[in-house]
Amino acid sequence: MPGKRLTHLKARRAIIDAARRMNALGLNHGTSGNVGFRVGERFLVTPSGLDYDAMTPADIVEMRFDGTHAGTRRPTSEWRFHRDILAARPEVDAVLHSHAVHCTALAVHGMEIPAVHYMVAAAGGTTIRCAPYRTPTTQALSDVALPALEGRKACLLQNHGCIVLGETPDACVDLLVEVEYLAELYIRTLAIGGATGNDPKILSQRKMAEVLAFMKSYGKQPDPGSSQT
Ligand SMILES: [Zn+2]
Repeated sequence: MPGKRLTHLKARRAIIDAARRMNALGLNHGTSGNVGFRVGERFLVTPSGLDYDAMTPADIVEMRFDGTHAGTRRPTSEWRFHRDILAARPEVDAVLHSHAVHCTALAVHGMEIPAVHYMVAAAGGTTIRCAPYRTPTTQALSDVALPALEGRKACLLQNHGCIVLGETPDACVDLLVEVEYLAELYIRTLAIGGATGNDPKILSQRKMAEVLAFMKSYGKQPDPGSSQT
C-alpha cells in the first residue's frame, strides 16, 4: 500500500544481511537459498528468485501461518517448510535453507554426518540427519524435513541441500558455517579412508553425550574447544 510504513524493518534487514553473508561466505549457490524469521504471530521470508544483492527490506514477504501473504512479491517457493518448522519449534525463530556444496554432496549420497568431530553437537545431537528426497517446494518435502530436524538444529536434504535453525538469521549462518565445515571434513576423511582403507573414527554415543552436556551448560557458547580459548 503506497505510503504505508514498512513493518518489522529490523527483522527484514536481518534476513537480507544473513542471506548476503551466506553467499559471501560461499555457503550457497546463486539465489537458491532462502531465509525465514518469526515476527510475532507471523513470519517473514525471502522472496522468490530475487538476487540477494538487489534485495531491499520491502522485498521481504510477510506471511501468515495459513500460507497467505501480503505485498507484491511472491514468497520463496520453499515457504512451506519455513512455516511448518516455525510452527512446530517454538524455541526457534529463524530458518535458513542452502545448497552449500559439501552438505549437498553428502546429501546426494543420502548420507548423514556422523560424530566425526565433537562439533556435530552444535546441531543438537550425535548426528546431523539426512531427510529422504522429496520434490522441492512441496508439502511432502516439509513433511520429511521436520522429523529429520527432531531434537536438532540442522539436517541435510537428499539430492537438494540443507536446513539450519537458530534464534536469528545471523545465528543460522553461524551454524551453517559449522555444518558445511563438518560436511567437508567428513568428505575428506572418507577420501583418506578410501586411499588407506582406514575408516574415520566416529565418536561414541557416550563421548558425544559428554560434549552435549558441556554445550548445554555453556548455553549459547557453541565451541568449548575454540582456538580463542
Ligand atoms: Zn533448495
